[in-house]
Amino acid sequence: MCERRGLLVVFSAPSGCGKDTILQTIFHNKNCDDFVLSRSMTTRAPRQGERNGVDYYFVTREEFEKRIDEDRLIEFAEYNGNYYGTPKDPVEEWLAQGKIVILEIEVQGASKVVKAYPEALSIFILPPSLEELERRLRQRNTDSEETIARRIALAPGEIAKSSEFKHCVVNDDVTRASDEVYRLITEERKK
Ligand code: 5GP
Repeated sequence: MCERRGLLVVFSAPSGCGKDTILQTIFHNKNCDDFVLSRSMTTRAPRQGERNGVDYYFVTREEFEKRIDEDRLIEFAEYNGNYYGTPKDPVEEWLAQGKIVILEIEVQGASKVVKAYPEALSIFILPPSLEELERRLRQRNTDSEETIARRIALAPGEIAKSSEFKHCVVNDDVTRASDEVYRLITEERKK
C-alpha cells in the first residue's frame, strides 16, 4: 500500500439505529477535513426534498445493472426491493489522495466490503434494544407501516452479522456514540 493511501471506513447498522445522525453529529462538531462520505447509487425513488447527485445518484434498474456488469461498484445490495451500491471510481480516487472515505451502507453490502477489504475499519452501530429500534423507526415518520415492519423483521439477522465487524458501538446516546466513532476513526488513522 502506498504511503498516501487513505482509510476506508465501513459504517453500518440496521435501519433506524441512528447511523445517519451519528455521522451528521461528527461532521458538524469535529474536525473532518480529511473525511469524505461516499455518495451511493440507488434505484429507490427520491423522497421529498432529496436531490439527484446530492443525496444519492438516482438511476433506473437498467442503469444500475449496467454498472454491475461493468464492475463499476465496490458493492451493491438489494434492500427493500431496491438496489443500492457504492461507485468504485470516486472511492479509489479518494483513497489514493489519502482521504478517510466513509461508506454508510446497509449490512449485506457492508459485510461484502468487510471481506473484500480486510484493511478497512468496520464499525457496526447497535440499538440499545429491539424495542427501542422499533420506537425510533416509528418516530422517524418517513416510511410506510409495511416498510417499517420489514425493517424491523430484518434487524435480528443484521445484528447477527455484527461479529464480522472490527468494532460495535451501541447508540444509547448520540453524542457519546459519535464521540466513540470519531475516536475509533482517528485512532485507526494514526496507526
Ligand atoms: P434509505 O432508502 O433509507 O436511504 O437507505 C436504506 C439503506 O440502504 C440504509 O441502511 C442505507 O445506509 C443503505 N445504503 C445506502 N447506500 C448504500 C450503498 O451504496 N450500498 C448499500 N449496500 N447500502 C446502502
